Amino acid sequence: MIDYNRNKIQFIKPELTVEDLTMALHQANLKLTEANIRLLDSEKKRSELLANISHDLRSPISTLRGYVEYLLSFNQPDQEEVLFILNQMNYKFHSLDYLLNEMFMITSLDSSEDKIILKPYLIKKCLEDYFLSCERDKNFAHRQLSLEIPVDLSCYVLLNLEMFVRALDNLFSNALKYSKEQDEIVLGAAFSENEIIIAISDTGIGIKEDMLTRIFERTFMISDSRTPESAKGCGLGLSIAASIMEKHEGRIWCESTFGKGSTFYLSLPIYISY
Ligand code: ADP
Repeated sequence: MIDYNRNKIQFIKPELTVEDLTMALHQANLKLTEANIRLLDSEKKRSELLANISHDLRSPISTLRGYVEYLLSFNQPDQEEVLFILNQMNYKFHSLDYLLNEMFMITSLDSSEDKIILKPYLIKKCLEDYFLSCERDKNFAHRQLSLEIPVDLSCYVLLNLEMFVRALDNLFSNALKYSKEQDEIVLGAAFSENEIIIAISDTGIGIKEDMLTRIFERTFMISDSRTPESAKGCGLGLSIAASIMEKHEGRIWCESTFGKGSTFYLSLPIYISY
């Protein structure tokens, strides 16, 4: 005899009530709304970043155009003046190059997968090597550099060395930009529970307390009469350093006394200590 019931699907009465389902739908809806808000927010930040960058690009380009037009207007160019203008142009090209590099870094940090390739490094050796490269850099010739790393800082941390050096570069170049001749710049490090804390201190112009949380925002710059014109950046350096530290599961923060100097801290989880 044919069993007609064999292929019948057995519907099991759900244990969830209509109220439970409504609640679950409501929660899913809330999560979607939150995700949507985050998406709109990041979209807004991206457009703001683009607008700021286009503005920053426009200024050196129009200066360069001015110089070229000026050079073209010469009938019999004076050698010295031409040399002066070429030097100015060279300076502007450098700042364009710098800006494009920062943009490239920020977009690749945004678009790269959450995980980056990390390898174990002896942090003491990395910091000593980095410090040595600064000592040899003539840009730091008029600052007093010192290294304060305990001899027993014996541990490995996981690093993407290129990115980590980039974060250090941004902090060191700020320490240089926002200080004057003979000011001190100190690179230090210490153990703190399961972390290594690295500190970059300067005796430069310092930062007002109400600005301390904002300086890590993209394209945020303190417009201040104390900031030398030549030091004006594009406000991306600290946000790049913050993204890099995030990718290393570390943190970045700053303590500063206005008029006296600043210390930027980086934390990194210890991989192996010995
Ligand atoms: P910028 O390219 O303007 O230097 P950053 O993101 O690196 O951009 O820094 C953001 C702002 O934080 C700077 O405009 C500057 O006002 C302030 N700042 C950063 N580092 C220091 C420092 N070491 N001393 C004083 N101010 C600093």
